[in-house]
Amino acid sequence: MTFRITLFIIAQLLGGLLGWYLGGWYGALAGMVLGSGVVFVVDSLRAQRFLRWVMEPDTSAPPLLRGLWGEAAYRTRRALRAEQRKVADSERALGEFLKAIQASPNGVVLLDSEGRIEWCNETAAQHFGFEPQRDMLQHIGNLVRQPAFAAYYVGKNYERDVTLIGSEDSASHPVKLSVQLHPYGDGQKLLLSRDITALAQAEAMRRDFVANVSHEIRTPLTVLAGFVETMQSLQLTEAERENYLSLMAAQASRMQMLVNDLLTLSQLEGSPLPSNSETVDPRELLDQCQTEATCLSLLLHPQNEHPQILNFGPAPKFLLHGSVGELRSAASNLINNAIRYTPGGGTIDVQWTQLPDGRARLAITDTGPGIAPEHLPRLAERFYRVDRSRSRESGGTGLGLAIAKHVVQRHGGELQITSQPGKGSCFALVFPAQRVFFKAVG
Ligand code: ADP
Repeated sequence: MTFRITLFIIAQLLGGLLGWYLGGWYGALAGMVLGSGVVFVVDSLRAQRFLRWVMEPDTSAPPLLRGLWGEAAYRTRRALRAEQRKVADSERALGEFLKAIQASPNGVVLLDSEGRIEWCNETAAQHFGFEPQRDMLQHIGNLVRQPAFAAYYVGKNYERDVTLIGSEDSASHPVKLSVQLHPYGDGQKLLLSRDITALAQAEAMRRDFVANVSHEIRTPLTVLAGFVETMQSLQLTEAERENYLSLMAAQASRMQMLVNDLLTLSQLEGSPLPSNSETVDPRELLDQCQTEATCLSLLLHPQNEHPQILNFGPAPKFLLHGSVGELRSAASNLINNAIRYTPGGGTIDVQWTQLPDGRARLAITDTGPGIAPEHLPRLAERFYRVDRSRSRESGGTGLGLAIAKHVVQRHGGELQITSQPGKGSCFALVFPAQRVFFKAVG
């Protein structure tokens, strides 16, 4: 600054001296004014260059200035650079943050104070059917038009969530969303959405299961209570008493079977998967099933009527890695079904084979009534029955196929069902090749 003042005085003095030399005292005055003017014009030109540079969008190349304007340009450039670095750092941090939100399995939508969409991640776009480019700054109420959401939005009670139907919902593939708004900042809102389809399905299955079990138990219980009441209030003959007691025993045993099957299922669900350390000998399994099957068949179709023909195929040479108890339960459920549903005179074949790809297959084929194709996909669901009264009459619980399917799946295999109405059915347990092995000879 001192330098600039000195320069200004020197320019005035030089102008004054030159003016005095050329034109006396008036010349000195004019020379001083001229000297100040030159300094002023040069300084203004330098200030203009500085200003032009500051106003340019690209401030990377500062003008070549010295003195005060050079210092000002240097300091301005340094401040601008620091500012640019800060902006770049914040942009990078924001980019990383948005990338993390993009990766979230939940939908995230940022709404401004008017309820317009400022940003949303891909999951939210998929949940609500938004098109991110087109729908930015659209009001959320124009895009999510379900009445439940409209009521939730205007209700302003955002402490709980609301359940909505996802944009990809269809009859064959229902989609349920849990949606919640979280106010923040100056009237803005964060909208979070979560796909709860699997949760809702599990909850519905649990409800159905409890309802089914209650219904299955209530029927024999009502019958039992009825008999007890009759026996308490009426004078019965010995023969009637015997008859009532045997009917009561049948109902009690039905409840017992149901409870046993429920326990088997819950044990299957709660225990670890069968390891490879246990060995199952299909020959022994076949022998045990044959003894049991012969007794049941004789019981249901006595010899003097039309007996069933039971064919148990040859014992296979291979062994299986798996749980003896579980495999026995699965096989006997399928064989019992074949005996129960096949009328007298019909044939039941039980056969172990090894498939060309190394898998082991236990097939139970009967010449029973068969099952219409529309029932096949749901047949192994718990309590699903083609003919409810037929199942109950023959002592069914509605859980046999569910148990068989669960067992074979726990072994990494599958339950195959083929059937032709009027001709018969084939239920097969197929085990993966990794579970099949042969005994070392010697
Ligand atoms: P249930 O105890 O009623 O037999 P399952 O789960 O074992 O229950 O079988 C489900 C349904 O599948 C049965 O109710 C029956 O309608 C049908 N089913 C099972 N096995 C056979 C079969 N061998 N022949 C015809 N229908 C069968």
